[in-house]
Order: sequence, then structure tokens, then C-alpha cells
Amino acid sequence: MPNFAVMLEDKNKSLTPLHTLGEFKLIDHLTQDIKIKHRSTLKGVGDDAAVLDFEDRLTVVSTDMLIEGVHFDLSYAPLKHLGYKAVVVNLSDIYAMNATATHITVSIAVSNRFSLEAVEELYEGIKLAAKTYGVDLIGGDTSSSTTGLLISVTALGEVEKDKQIYRNGAKPNDLLVVSGDLGGAYLGLQVLEREKQVFQVNPQNQPDLTPYSYLVGRQLKPEARKDIVDLLATLQVKPTSMIDISDGLSSEIIHLCTQSNVGCDLYENKIPLDPQVISTCEEFSIDSTTVALNGGEDYELLFTISQEDYPKIKANPNLTVIGYMKEEQAGMHLITRDETAIPLKAQGWKNFNT
Ligand code: ADP
Ligand code: MG
Repeated sequence: MPNFAVMLEDKNKSLTPLHTLGEFKLIDHLTQDIKIKHRSTLKGVGDDAAVLDFEDRLTVVSTDMLIEGVHFDLSYAPLKHLGYKAVVVNLSDIYAMNATATHITVSIAVSNRFSLEAVEELYEGIKLAAKTYGVDLIGGDTSSSTTGLLISVTALGEVEKDKQIYRNGAKPNDLLVVSGDLGGAYLGLQVLEREKQVFQVNPQNQPDLTPYSYLVGRQLKPEARKDIVDLLATLQVKPTSMIDISDGLSSEIIHLCTQSNVGCDLYENKIPLDPQVISTCEEFSIDSTTVALNGGEDYELLFTISQEDYPKIKANPNLTVIGYMKEEQAGMHLITRDETAIPLKAQGWKNFNT
């Protein structure tokens, strides 16, 4: 749970300033207890480069960067959660290719505002995510920063030849399916921003986030849907296209449609929403469909399947059919509860707008 009073002040004399270690000791310190799990890891941390052997499988690579003040705010994101999230958002991209995540590299730039203990906390989260998802931490880079904290993670994965899934394989009449529920992470951020304002006015006021616990959890400690990739394999369903939802349902649907040259009808009444999303939208007077369409960071999987696979997924509570694909000329529409067709727009929640 966020604690607005916990900041990483060098005022606290028990903390170790980073300059007392230097870069090499810091790297050693952060990586000394890493244990390699994958046979494909021939060489991990410690040489000029890691060496991997994927034998006859395809290698999948993805990278993402998180920047303080742009992607996270340390006044409510605990460092351990931040480290966890930095890994998870990358793994989500690997799973969206229908691949198994196997390796990560982690690069950080830290200012001397941070203590050794703060960086350790960040790495606790990174290592917890690596353990949870069964990936080897095989390298990275460590640099100082004159301003904030920067974390860049590269994730690697493997997939059998012809099992990889792209964004461009959707066909007209395919069903559009989403895992989990949507809008929670965005609302979690709204709740945290609101409580931060309250806290700035009155620091004695510790927020009660209990009514929003699901939303705040979705924002601060998201999970990647490895389980869905495994589930689809078990059900013997191979999606025709797939993408992870990082920028909001609307823009991800548009990616699938434009890359696959198809159109789509998305049904408003089918969009899966958690009860806490619905009640909090009422409280904030915002429309829950707008939140699901344009809020970001849900890290659910969005994919299309051919109609004949429908019986295999229909009973599964983790998967919801939210629409179907059409011919390209039909366009991309939201079909509202009163059956009006509204063109889908990609608002996303790109940081460029802020
Ligand atoms: P180089 O000078 O060749 O870039 P470094 O001293 O930066 O080497 O890194 C030494 C080893 O430590 C390399 O294996 C590198 O991948 C690893 N490493 C450096 N920084 C990190 C980090 N933040 N997390 C994990 N591994 C790291
Ligand atoms: Mg280096």
C-alpha cells in the first residue's frame, strides 16, 4: 500500500549514499545472488555480454523504458512495486507474441538522491518479478543520472516456429476476445493522484485506500497474463492476432484492425468491468466505457480467434468475447447499449499529451 510519508531522503543518516560504493560495487551488490534457471542461459551477468542458446526456437525481444515524472511518481509508487512493474510491462509484450518469457536485462540511471537501500528495494521488486515469471536476469547497465530515476528493461522470450502470433492475422468474422477486466489501472492512478493532493494539503491525513484496493493494485502492481498464454495452449486455441493492452482498448483494437486490414464491431455491453471500476466511475462522474477504451496500463491480452474455436473458450471466466471483426470497408465501431455505432478513436493516454 502506498505510504505518502515514505520518501527516499538522504536526511536519514542510516542510509548508505551510492557514491560510497561506486558503479562496480553497486553492480556486484545488486547481482551477486542471481541464480540462473534456464538451460538456454550459457552466460549471464559478469562478462561483456550474455550468451544464450535457443536451439531451434524463435527468439522474441522487447524493450521498454520507465522515466520518473513521466511514467511514475515516487511519491506514491513504492520502489519495490516499481521494479516489479518495470519487469512485468516488458513480459506482457513477450506474452502478447504467444511466447515464453525467458530472460531480462535491466538498465538503471540513478541520481545521488537515492541511497543504496532505495536501489536495493527497486531490485527486490525486479527480482521478485523475475522469480514469479521464471525469467533469468542476465545483464544490464548502471549509470548515474543528474535528475530522476530511469529504468529500462529488455525482455527476451522463445516460441516454437509458427506458434508466434502477430498483430496482423485477424480475419473478418473472427471473434474479438479480451482477458480479465479493463479500466482498473487508470482509475487506480486517478485515486492515487487525488490522495496525493489531499496529502499535500494535510500531511497528517493518511489515506484510506481500502475501497479502491483492487484499482490501486492494478496501477501499482500489475501482472502480465502468462496464465492466458498457457491457458490458450491447453485449450488448443491459437489466436489469429494478439496484442497486449497498454494504451487502452480502443487504440489496441485499432492496431489489430489496421495491421490486419479488417474492420470491427465492439459491443459496449460486453466490455468486462470490475465492480470497483463501476462504483468508482460513479463517484468520479466519469463514464466507465470511456475509461476502458482510453485508460491505459491494464496489461490484459486482446486477441482474435476463428469462430470455430468459440466452444473451447466460451465457458472460461478469464476470457470475454467483446466483438467481432468485419471487412475493412465496414470500419471500426463501438456499438453502444442503445445500438448506436460510434467510430472508434485512438485517444490512448500517451504521455506526449501531458
Ligand atoms: P560494460 O562496461 O562492459 O558495459 P558493466 O560494468 O556495465 O560492463 O557491467 C558488468 C556486468 O554487469 C555485465 O554483465 C552487465 O550486463 C551487468 N550489469 C550492469 N549493470 C547491471 C544492472 N543494473 N542489473 C543487472 N546487471 C547489470
Ligand atoms: Mg555497462
